[in-house]
Amino acid sequence: MSESKNGPDSSRRAFLTTAAVAASVAVIGLRPRTAQAAMPHLSEADPLAKSLGYKANASQVDKAKFPTYKPGEHCGLCRFFQGKPGQTSGFAGCQIFAGYSVDAGGWCASFNARG
Ligand code: SF4
Repeated sequence: MSESKNGPDSSRRAFLTTAAVAASVAVIGLRPRTAQAAMPHLSEADPLAKSLGYKANASQVDKAKFPTYKPGEHCGLCRFFQGKPGQTSGFAGCQIFAGYSVDAGGWCASFNARG
């Protein structure tokens, strides 16, 4: 009777559905790490970047607008930089610009030398 509706075919279907959902969750679960590894480069036109005078090349900082800039300072020497300390090229995250990577040779007004 109802054996045909809830029999082995039904159990197999339920198992396959569960397995498919589990596989989807596993794939979705991997996405944040992948996205994190490929964070977009911070644009100098980003409103916060602009207000902090971020330049991907520290030598291009507007020294008149941001007089705290001192030659030689760059993201790789900043405590907010999430790459290797002293890094001079390449990109890494920055605690000030969550979700973006900044140029190790860049600078912004939030620069704070590593201790
Ligand atoms: S806070 Fe530091 S690491 Fe981040 S953009 Fe500014 S200078 Fe670079």
